[in-house]
Amino acid sequence: MKKLLALVALALMTQPAHAEDAPKWSLAIHGGAGTLDPAQMTPEKRAAYEADLQRALDAGSKILAEGGAAMDAIKAAIIIMEDSPLFNAGKGAVFTWDGTNELDASIMDGRDRSAGAIAGVKTVKNPILLADTVRTQSEHVMLMGAGAEAFAVEKGFAATPPEYFATPARREALERLKAEKLSALHVDHKFGTVGAVALDQSGNMAAGTSTGGMTGKRWGRVGDAPLIGAGTYADNRACAVSATGWGEYFIRVGVAHEICARLRAFEEFKTIAEAEEELPVELTNGAPQRIADDVMADVAKLGGDGGVILVTPEGHAVFSFNTTGMYRGRATSAGVNEVAIFGGEEKASATPDH
Ligand code: ASP
Repeated sequence: MKKLLALVALALMTQPAHAEDAPKWSLAIHGGAGTLDPAQMTPEKRAAYEADLQRALDAGSKILAEGGAAMDAIKAAIIIMEDSPLFNAGKGAVFTWDGTNELDASIMDGRDRSAGAIAGVKTVKNPILLADTVRTQSEHVMLMGAGAEAFAVEKGFAATPPEYFATPARREALERLKAEKLSALHVDHKFGTVGAVALDQSGNMAAGTSTGGMTGKRWGRVGDAPLIGAGTYADNRACAVSATGWGEYFIRVGVAHEICARLRAFEEFKTIAEAEEELPVELTNGAPQRIADDVMADVAKLGGDGGVILVTPEGHAVFSFNTTGMYRGRATSAGVNEVAIFGGEEKASATPDH
């Protein structure tokens, strides 16, 4: 009998490590949320969006799967979407009232909460990289306009001619807005801001967001995307978040920080409660989705719309949006790999099943 028990123990010990013990990683990306009309989405258009989302997702997940840093993964994913004319970031950015393209971006490292942001920049091909340079090579968090461009030149960024960013579709949206006296919301049915959030195998998280803002913006209007706490937030203790939508409302709610703060409070509560084994696993596993949905409901209550993506230390990759669609994708070490556009298209569960 003793021998049998010893054999069983040995067999258990030599079992391959349960997936739960394997290092986890996860990545979520978005390419903007908005009122997407399925009738307007031709198969060709859908295929083009899905292809670029998948390329961004693959670039980021390759880095994470190979043990790379969350920070590198989000930059790799965001650069691909900034370079794609389909999204409202980098090339393909929307036009201001004055017919220029003014770019905003922000980035945050959940390890030390270092952050960088830029607003109203017109000559930097990849705004997310300039935001990251503010984070790593300046004493500041946010630089704007001409000053940010002078900083870029000093740090070796090539000046990109304004024509690079301009696309006919975005120019037509501005012309329509002016001719029909519409608001940005009417011409920007799909907003197109881009963002990425990641958890790497070392447990570090990072978040980044990049945008051209809203069509017809004037007077130096800046939205939530470059604001740490509104459009972007990362804190290893809680989550990494990137937002997209009607920026003014996201600023008022402080969406990205609000989600992280609620999750951190829940984590603390869980630590106390779990010692007494009081919390059912459904409650804890469902928390990130519930909290993100609650914060988005708060945005909606004020009259705003849009969406968020987030990852958590446990490897959840969550979407929440109150628009008909959000260009999005997620990939995890548990084998999830999907891109989606309209609501409810996800195949996988947001809960890591490993
Ligand atoms: N949040 C961005 C802004 O308000 C726009 C967007 O996400 O579509 O500038």
